[in-house]
Amino acid sequence: MSKFWSEKTRQLQPYVPGEQPKIANLVKLNTNENPFPPSPLVLKTMQAVTEDLRLYPDPNADRLKQTIADYYGLSREQIFVGNGSDEVLAQAFAAFFQGKQQLLLPDISYSFYPVYCQLYDVEARYIPLDEHFTINPADYYGAQAGVVFPNPNAPTGCILPLAQVEQILQANPDCVVLVDEAYIDFGGESAVALIADYPNLLVVQTLSKSRSLAGMRIGLALGQAELIEGLERVKNSFNSYPLDRLAQAGAIAAFEDENYFRSTCAKVIENRIWLTKHLSQLGFEVLPSQANFVFASHKNKTAVEIAAELRRHGVVVRHFPQERINNFLRISVGTQQQQQRLIEVLKEMLNP
Ligand code: PMP
Repeated sequence: MSKFWSEKTRQLQPYVPGEQPKIANLVKLNTNENPFPPSPLVLKTMQAVTEDLRLYPDPNADRLKQTIADYYGLSREQIFVGNGSDEVLAQAFAAFFQGKQQLLLPDISYSFYPVYCQLYDVEARYIPLDEHFTINPADYYGAQAGVVFPNPNAPTGCILPLAQVEQILQANPDCVVLVDEAYIDFGGESAVALIADYPNLLVVQTLSKSRSLAGMRIGLALGQAELIEGLERVKNSFNSYPLDRLAQAGAIAAFEDENYFRSTCAKVIENRIWLTKHLSQLGFEVLPSQANFVFASHKNKTAVEIAAELRRHGVVVRHFPQERINNFLRISVGTQQQQQRLIEVLKEMLNP
Protein backbone atom coordinates (compact mmCIF):
# COMPACT_ATOMS: atom_id res chain seq x y z
CA MET A 1 0.00 0.00 0.00
CA SER A 2 1.38 3.41 -0.91
CA LYS A 3 0.04 6.92 -0.48
CA PHE A 4 0.58 7.38 -4.21
CA TRP A 5 -1.95 4.75 -5.20
CA SER A 6 -5.35 5.84 -6.46
CA GLU A 7 -8.44 4.68 -4.58
CA LYS A 8 -9.11 2.20 -7.39
CA THR A 9 -5.61 0.73 -7.19
CA ARG A 10 -6.00 0.26 -3.44
CA GLN A 11 -9.15 -1.75 -3.94
CA LEU A 12 -7.91 -4.05 -6.72
CA GLN A 13 -7.46 -7.75 -6.01
CA PRO A 14 -5.40 -8.79 -9.02
CA TYR A 15 -5.63 -12.15 -10.77
CA VAL A 16 -3.04 -14.71 -9.72
CA PRO A 17 -1.77 -16.70 -12.73
CA GLY A 18 -0.71 -20.33 -12.41
CA GLU A 19 2.81 -20.73 -11.18
CA GLN A 20 5.74 -20.97 -13.64
CA PRO A 21 8.19 -22.80 -11.32
CA LYS A 22 11.91 -22.64 -12.02
CA ILE A 23 12.56 -26.29 -11.17
CA ALA A 24 14.59 -28.60 -13.44
CA ASN A 25 12.90 -31.71 -14.94
CA LEU A 26 9.52 -30.54 -13.86
CA VAL A 27 6.38 -32.29 -15.06
CA LYS A 28 4.36 -29.14 -15.57
CA LEU A 29 0.63 -29.84 -15.69
CA ASN A 30 -0.67 -26.69 -13.98
CA THR A 31 -1.40 -24.02 -16.62
CA ASN A 32 -3.02 -25.85 -19.54
CA GLU A 33 -0.24 -25.19 -21.99
CA ASN A 34 -0.07 -27.45 -25.02
CA PRO A 35 2.45 -30.27 -24.42
CA PHE A 36 3.51 -30.13 -28.09
CA PRO A 37 5.60 -27.36 -29.70
CA PRO A 38 4.14 -24.89 -32.20
CA SER A 39 4.07 -25.82 -35.89
CA PRO A 40 7.52 -25.70 -37.57
CA LEU A 41 5.95 -23.36 -40.13
CA VAL A 42 5.25 -20.85 -37.35
CA LEU A 43 8.88 -20.80 -36.27
CA LYS A 44 10.16 -20.51 -39.85
CA THR A 45 7.76 -17.67 -40.66
CA MET A 46 8.70 -15.76 -37.52
CA GLN A 47 12.39 -16.08 -38.31
CA ALA A 48 11.78 -14.53 -41.72
CA VAL A 49 10.38 -11.31 -40.24
CA THR A 50 13.08 -10.61 -37.67
CA GLU A 51 14.85 -8.14 -40.00
CA ASP A 52 11.77 -5.94 -39.97
CA LEU A 53 11.68 -5.61 -36.21
CA ARG A 54 12.97 -2.02 -36.32
CA LEU A 55 9.64 -1.09 -37.92
CA TYR A 56 6.35 -0.86 -36.06
CA PRO A 57 3.94 -3.68 -36.82
CA ASP A 58 0.66 -3.18 -38.68
CA PRO A 59 -1.53 -1.57 -35.97
CA ASN A 60 -4.63 -3.21 -37.47
CA ALA A 61 -3.06 -6.64 -38.08
CA ASP A 62 -4.99 -6.71 -41.37
CA ARG A 63 -3.29 -9.76 -42.90
CA LEU A 64 -3.84 -11.77 -39.74
CA LYS A 65 -7.48 -10.67 -39.53
CA GLN A 66 -7.99 -11.65 -43.17
CA THR A 67 -6.43 -15.07 -42.52
CA ILE A 68 -8.73 -15.68 -39.55
CA ALA A 69 -11.74 -14.35 -41.49
CA ASP A 70 -11.03 -16.76 -44.37
CA TYR A 71 -10.51 -19.62 -41.93
CA TYR A 72 -13.93 -19.11 -40.35
CA GLY A 73 -15.85 -17.84 -43.40
CA LEU A 74 -16.30 -14.36 -41.88
CA SER A 75 -15.24 -10.90 -43.05
CA ARG A 76 -12.23 -8.96 -41.77
CA GLU A 77 -14.50 -6.47 -39.97
CA GLN A 78 -15.77 -9.35 -37.83
CA ILE A 79 -12.33 -10.11 -36.36
CA PHE A 80 -10.53 -8.46 -33.45
CA VAL A 81 -7.06 -9.44 -32.21
CA GLY A 82 -5.20 -8.69 -29.00
CA ASN A 83 -2.24 -9.56 -26.82
CA GLY A 84 -3.58 -12.84 -25.47
CA SER A 85 -7.26 -13.51 -24.91
CA ASP A 86 -6.90 -12.09 -21.39
CA GLU A 87 -6.40 -8.69 -23.01
CA VAL A 88 -9.25 -9.28 -25.44
CA LEU A 89 -11.52 -10.19 -22.51
CA ALA A 90 -10.49 -7.04 -20.62
CA GLN A 91 -11.32 -4.91 -23.65
CA ALA A 92 -14.64 -6.67 -24.09
CA PHE A 93 -15.55 -5.98 -20.46
CA ALA A 94 -14.60 -2.32 -21.01
CA ALA A 95 -16.49 -2.03 -24.30
CA PHE A 96 -19.73 -3.83 -23.38
CA PHE A 97 -20.15 -4.21 -19.63
CA GLN A 98 -18.33 -1.30 -17.98
CA GLY A 99 -20.36 0.39 -15.25
CA LYS A 100 -23.35 -1.90 -15.78
CA GLN A 101 -25.26 -3.96 -13.24
CA GLN A 102 -26.03 -7.66 -13.25
CA LEU A 103 -23.53 -9.39 -15.45
CA LEU A 104 -24.40 -13.08 -15.18
CA LEU A 105 -21.60 -15.63 -14.88
CA PRO A 106 -21.14 -19.11 -13.39
CA ASP A 107 -19.97 -19.35 -9.77
CA ILE A 108 -17.24 -21.75 -10.85
CA SER A 109 -15.49 -20.36 -13.86
CA TYR A 110 -12.41 -18.47 -15.05
CA SER A 111 -11.13 -16.53 -12.06
CA PHE A 112 -10.06 -13.54 -14.16
CA TYR A 113 -13.69 -12.47 -14.78
CA PRO A 114 -14.27 -11.15 -11.23
CA VAL A 115 -11.06 -9.14 -11.54
CA TYR A 116 -12.27 -7.45 -14.74
CA CYS A 117 -15.60 -6.78 -13.03
CA GLN A 118 -13.75 -4.92 -10.32
CA LEU A 119 -11.50 -3.06 -12.74
CA TYR A 120 -14.42 -1.89 -14.89
CA ASP A 121 -17.03 -1.42 -12.15
CA VAL A 122 -19.31 -4.18 -13.34
CA GLU A 123 -21.71 -5.65 -10.82
CA ALA A 124 -21.61 -9.41 -11.20
CA ARG A 125 -24.18 -12.03 -10.24
CA TYR A 126 -22.67 -15.49 -9.84
CA ILE A 127 -24.98 -18.33 -10.78
CA PRO A 128 -24.27 -21.72 -9.19
CA LEU A 129 -23.48 -24.55 -11.59
CA ASP A 130 -25.79 -27.51 -11.04
CA GLU A 131 -24.80 -30.62 -9.04
CA HIS A 132 -23.04 -32.05 -12.12
CA PHE A 133 -21.03 -28.83 -12.47
CA THR A 134 -22.87 -27.87 -15.65
CA ILE A 135 -24.53 -24.65 -16.75
CA ASN A 136 -28.32 -24.53 -16.81
CA PRO A 137 -29.19 -22.19 -19.73
CA ALA A 138 -32.46 -21.00 -18.17
CA ASP A 139 -30.47 -19.42 -15.31
CA TYR A 140 -29.01 -16.96 -17.83
CA TYR A 141 -32.22 -15.70 -19.44
CA GLY A 142 -33.00 -11.98 -19.31
CA ALA A 143 -29.62 -10.68 -18.13
CA GLN A 144 -29.27 -6.93 -17.69
CA ALA A 145 -25.60 -6.18 -18.33
CA GLY A 146 -24.67 -9.33 -20.22
CA VAL A 147 -23.55 -12.93 -19.87
CA VAL A 148 -20.04 -14.41 -19.74
CA PHE A 149 -18.98 -18.05 -19.59
CA PRO A 150 -16.18 -20.21 -20.93
CA ASN A 151 -17.18 -23.08 -23.19
CA PRO A 152 -15.84 -25.63 -22.35
CA ASN A 153 -15.99 -24.22 -18.85
CA ALA A 154 -12.78 -23.77 -16.88
CA PRO A 155 -11.67 -25.25 -14.56
CA THR A 156 -14.31 -27.98 -14.93
CA GLY A 157 -13.74 -28.83 -18.63
CA CYS A 158 -17.49 -29.42 -19.10
CA ILE A 159 -19.09 -28.38 -22.40
CA LEU A 160 -22.44 -26.69 -22.96
CA PRO A 161 -23.92 -28.04 -26.23
CA LEU A 162 -24.30 -25.45 -28.99
CA ALA A 163 -28.12 -25.67 -28.97
CA GLN A 164 -28.06 -24.52 -25.33
CA VAL A 165 -25.62 -21.69 -26.06
CA GLU A 166 -28.14 -20.61 -28.68
CA GLN A 167 -30.97 -20.63 -26.11
CA ILE A 168 -28.96 -18.18 -23.99
CA LEU A 169 -28.39 -15.95 -27.04
CA GLN A 170 -32.09 -16.00 -27.93
CA ALA A 171 -33.07 -15.06 -24.40
CA ASN A 172 -30.73 -12.04 -24.29
CA PRO A 173 -31.29 -9.98 -27.45
CA ASP A 174 -30.43 -6.71 -25.69
CA CYS A 175 -27.07 -7.52 -24.17
CA VAL A 176 -23.80 -9.14 -25.14
CA VAL A 177 -23.29 -12.85 -24.52
CA LEU A 178 -19.55 -13.48 -24.40
CA VAL A 179 -18.55 -17.11 -25.00
CA ASP A 180 -14.91 -17.66 -24.05
CA GLU A 181 -13.76 -20.52 -26.27
CA ALA A 182 -10.16 -20.80 -25.02
CA TYR A 183 -10.46 -24.62 -25.11
CA ILE A 184 -13.01 -25.17 -27.89
CA ASP A 185 -10.64 -26.93 -30.32
CA PHE A 186 -10.27 -29.97 -28.05
CA GLY A 187 -13.66 -31.44 -28.84
CA GLY A 188 -16.40 -28.79 -28.50
CA GLU A 189 -18.56 -27.22 -31.17
CA SER A 190 -17.79 -23.52 -31.68
CA ALA A 191 -20.44 -20.80 -31.48
CA VAL A 192 -18.74 -19.05 -34.44
CA ALA A 193 -21.40 -20.70 -36.65
CA LEU A 194 -24.06 -18.58 -34.86
CA ILE A 195 -22.44 -15.18 -35.46
CA ALA A 196 -24.46 -14.40 -38.60
CA ASP A 197 -27.73 -14.86 -36.68
CA TYR A 198 -26.89 -13.16 -33.38
CA PRO A 199 -25.68 -9.53 -33.21
CA ASN A 200 -25.27 -10.02 -29.42
CA LEU A 201 -22.74 -12.87 -29.70
CA LEU A 202 -19.04 -12.31 -29.04
CA VAL A 203 -16.79 -15.37 -29.29
CA VAL A 204 -13.32 -15.06 -27.74
CA GLN A 205 -10.55 -17.50 -28.66
CA THR A 206 -6.81 -17.86 -28.13
CA LEU A 207 -3.76 -19.31 -29.85
CA SER A 208 -2.30 -20.18 -26.44
CA LYS A 209 -3.83 -23.63 -26.14
CA SER A 210 -4.70 -25.51 -29.34
CA ARG A 211 -2.02 -23.73 -31.37
CA SER A 212 0.76 -24.01 -28.76
CA LEU A 213 1.54 -20.28 -28.70
CA ALA A 214 0.98 -19.28 -25.06
CA GLY A 215 4.39 -17.62 -25.10
CA MET A 216 3.48 -15.32 -28.01
CA ARG A 217 0.26 -13.92 -26.45
CA ILE A 218 -2.30 -13.92 -29.26
CA GLY A 219 -6.03 -13.76 -28.64
CA LEU A 220 -8.99 -12.95 -30.84
CA ALA A 221 -12.65 -12.05 -30.78
CA LEU A 222 -15.23 -12.84 -33.43
CA GLY A 223 -18.61 -11.21 -33.81
CA GLN A 224 -20.71 -8.96 -35.99
CA ALA A 225 -18.95 -5.82 -37.26
CA GLU A 226 -20.64 -3.42 -34.83
CA LEU A 227 -19.42 -5.34 -31.79
CA ILE A 228 -15.92 -5.55 -33.22
CA GLU A 229 -15.92 -1.82 -33.91
CA GLY A 230 -16.64 -1.25 -30.21
CA LEU A 231 -13.59 -3.33 -29.30
CA GLU A 232 -11.44 -1.40 -31.80
CA ARG A 233 -12.45 1.88 -30.16
CA VAL A 234 -11.29 0.64 -26.78
CA LYS A 235 -8.09 -0.87 -28.17
CA ASN A 236 -7.19 2.31 -30.07
CA SER A 237 -7.67 4.31 -26.89
CA PHE A 238 -5.16 2.14 -25.06
CA ASN A 239 -2.45 0.57 -27.27
CA SER A 240 -2.23 0.87 -31.05
CA TYR A 241 0.17 -2.06 -31.46
CA PRO A 242 -0.88 -4.90 -29.18
CA LEU A 243 0.43 -7.59 -31.54
CA ASP A 244 4.07 -7.37 -32.53
CA ARG A 245 5.50 -8.45 -35.88
CA LEU A 246 6.53 -11.89 -34.68
CA ALA A 247 3.09 -12.55 -33.22
CA GLN A 248 1.26 -11.45 -36.37
CA ALA A 249 3.48 -13.51 -38.68
CA GLY A 250 3.43 -16.56 -36.40
CA ALA A 251 -0.34 -16.42 -35.94
CA ILE A 252 -0.92 -16.37 -39.70
CA ALA A 253 1.31 -19.43 -40.12
CA ALA A 254 -0.48 -21.21 -37.26
CA PHE A 255 -3.81 -20.86 -39.07
CA GLU A 256 -2.23 -21.92 -42.36
CA ASP A 257 -0.76 -25.17 -41.01
CA GLU A 258 -4.09 -26.92 -40.61
CA ASN A 259 -2.64 -30.44 -40.72
CA TYR A 260 -0.31 -29.78 -37.82
CA PHE A 261 -3.13 -28.16 -35.83
CA ARG A 262 -5.44 -31.11 -36.39
CA SER A 263 -2.86 -33.73 -35.57
CA THR A 264 -1.74 -32.08 -32.30
CA CYS A 265 -5.35 -31.52 -31.17
CA ALA A 266 -6.07 -35.19 -31.91
CA LYS A 267 -3.05 -36.23 -29.82
CA VAL A 268 -4.19 -34.05 -26.91
CA ILE A 269 -7.66 -35.62 -27.06
CA GLU A 270 -6.15 -39.11 -27.16
CA ASN A 271 -3.97 -38.30 -24.14
CA ARG A 272 -6.95 -36.85 -22.28
CA ILE A 273 -8.83 -40.11 -22.73
CA TRP A 274 -5.80 -42.06 -21.44
CA LEU A 275 -5.40 -39.72 -18.46
CA THR A 276 -9.10 -39.90 -17.55
CA LYS A 277 -9.04 -43.69 -17.66
CA HIS A 278 -5.95 -44.02 -15.48
CA LEU A 279 -7.11 -41.43 -12.94
CA SER A 280 -10.48 -43.19 -12.67
CA GLN A 281 -8.72 -46.52 -12.08
CA LEU A 282 -6.92 -44.91 -9.15
CA GLY A 283 -10.19 -43.87 -7.51
CA PHE A 284 -10.55 -40.34 -8.88
CA GLU A 285 -13.86 -38.88 -9.93
CA VAL A 286 -13.07 -37.13 -13.23
CA LEU A 287 -15.57 -34.68 -14.71
CA PRO A 288 -16.28 -35.21 -18.43
CA SER A 289 -13.82 -32.87 -20.18
CA GLN A 290 -13.74 -31.43 -23.68
CA ALA A 291 -10.67 -29.33 -22.86
CA ASN A 292 -6.91 -29.93 -22.62
CA PHE A 293 -7.21 -30.57 -18.89
CA VAL A 294 -9.26 -32.68 -16.52
CA PHE A 295 -10.85 -31.76 -13.20
CA ALA A 296 -10.59 -34.58 -10.72
CA SER A 297 -11.20 -35.34 -7.07
CA HIS A 298 -10.14 -38.36 -5.01
CA LYS A 299 -12.40 -40.19 -2.59
CA ASN A 300 -9.77 -40.90 0.09
CA LYS A 301 -7.19 -38.16 -0.03
CA THR A 302 -7.64 -34.38 -0.13
CA ALA A 303 -6.67 -32.39 -3.21
CA VAL A 304 -4.35 -30.23 -1.11
CA GLU A 305 -2.45 -33.28 0.14
CA ILE A 306 -2.22 -34.84 -3.31
CA ALA A 307 -0.98 -31.60 -4.90
CA ALA A 308 1.67 -31.12 -2.22
CA GLU A 309 2.93 -34.67 -2.55
CA LEU A 310 2.99 -34.52 -6.34
CA ARG A 311 5.02 -31.37 -6.10
CA ARG A 312 7.59 -33.07 -3.89
CA HIS A 313 8.02 -35.50 -6.79
CA GLY A 314 8.41 -32.68 -9.34
CA VAL A 315 4.86 -32.84 -10.73
CA VAL A 316 2.81 -29.64 -10.55
CA VAL A 317 -0.96 -29.44 -10.97
CA ARG A 318 -3.40 -26.65 -10.06
CA HIS A 319 -5.60 -26.37 -7.00
CA PHE A 320 -8.21 -23.66 -6.42
CA PRO A 321 -8.97 -22.89 -2.76
CA GLN A 322 -12.62 -22.14 -3.48
CA GLU A 323 -15.83 -23.46 -2.02
CA ARG A 324 -17.37 -26.46 -3.87
CA ILE A 325 -14.13 -27.23 -5.76
CA ASN A 326 -11.72 -27.25 -2.86
CA ASN A 327 -11.25 -30.99 -3.20
CA PHE A 328 -10.58 -30.95 -6.95
CA LEU A 329 -7.34 -30.74 -8.89
CA ARG A 330 -7.05 -29.35 -12.39
CA ILE A 331 -4.55 -31.43 -14.31
CA SER A 332 -3.41 -30.36 -17.78
CA VAL A 333 -3.10 -32.99 -20.48
CA GLY A 334 0.59 -33.69 -21.05
CA THR A 335 2.76 -35.85 -23.26
CA GLN A 336 2.48 -39.62 -22.73
CA GLN A 337 5.77 -39.50 -20.83
CA GLN A 338 4.58 -36.74 -18.47
CA GLN A 339 1.28 -38.47 -17.84
CA GLN A 340 2.97 -41.79 -17.14
CA ARG A 341 5.14 -40.08 -14.55
CA LEU A 342 2.08 -38.49 -12.94
CA ILE A 343 0.24 -41.82 -12.74
CA GLU A 344 3.33 -43.59 -11.40
CA VAL A 345 3.67 -41.07 -8.55
CA LEU A 346 -0.07 -41.22 -7.82
CA LYS A 347 -0.01 -45.02 -7.73
CA GLU A 348 2.72 -44.99 -5.13
CA MET A 349 0.91 -42.35 -3.13
CA LEU A 350 -2.57 -43.90 -3.19
CA ASN A 351 -1.77 -47.64 -2.96
CA PRO A 352 1.35 -47.78 -0.80
N1 PMP B 1 -9.97 -17.88 -20.89
C1 PMP B 1 -9.85 -18.99 -20.16
C2 PMP B 1 -11.07 -19.74 -19.77
C3 PMP B 1 -8.58 -19.44 -19.76
O1 PMP B 1 -8.45 -20.54 -19.00
C4 PMP B 1 -7.43 -18.72 -20.16
C5 PMP B 1 -6.05 -19.19 -19.77
N2 PMP B 1 -5.64 -18.80 -18.51
C6 PMP B 1 -7.61 -17.55 -20.90
C7 PMP B 1 -8.89 -17.17 -21.26
C8 PMP B 1 -6.47 -16.66 -21.28
O2 PMP B 1 -5.59 -17.20 -22.19
P1 PMP B 1 -4.55 -16.32 -22.99
O3 PMP B 1 -4.50 -14.95 -22.36
O4 PMP B 1 -3.28 -17.05 -22.91
O5 PMP B 1 -5.09 -16.24 -24.39
